[in-house]
Amino acid sequence: MADPLLDQANAAAAEGLAFMRDFKEAKGGEIIAVPPGGCTARFHQELASRLRAGLTVPCAHLNPGAPQPMYWVPWDPEVVGCRACHDVANANITGTLEDDRCDGCGAYPGRDQLYAVASQLTGGGYFPHLRAATGPVTIHFGLCPDCYAKEIPGD
Ligand SMILES: [Zn+2]
Ligand SMILES: [Zn+2]
Repeated sequence: MADPLLDQANAAAAEGLAFMRDFKEAKGGEIIAVPPGGCTARFHQELASRLRAGLTVPCAHLNPGAPQPMYWVPWDPEVVGCRACHDVANANITGTLEDDRCDGCGAYPGRDQLYAVASQLTGGGYFPHLRAATGPVTIHFGLCPDCYAKEIPGD
């Protein structure tokens, strides 16, 4: 039996995965699968507590009746955004000094020395406080070599 909401949720999941693949191709770096460690785990917790506290809110386009992929970055933490809003945030990465800052420890390892890291969560269940779409949530950020080394134990 066709379930339009389930179809949408599946499409949202596929689109989220496509984003992850494109991200890896464009930025290199690593896609961290669950269970996360290091900074990835910390950002997951930070996002969850920000949502609970109402410090992070969904963008105006996310809708509980229309699952779609969601995106969050620790350097723009106030909003969980749809893809369009997220693309705007990414377009604001303009090569300033701040763009070379490690999201994990705040260090400046030098131009183009950050590792791009992306991580994806299932939206449903993880976001009981986010009354919005239940598509996957992609979190991505940049880490200096030291933080990155802690991210992947034994690598
Ligand atoms: Zn939006
Ligand atoms: Zn660092």
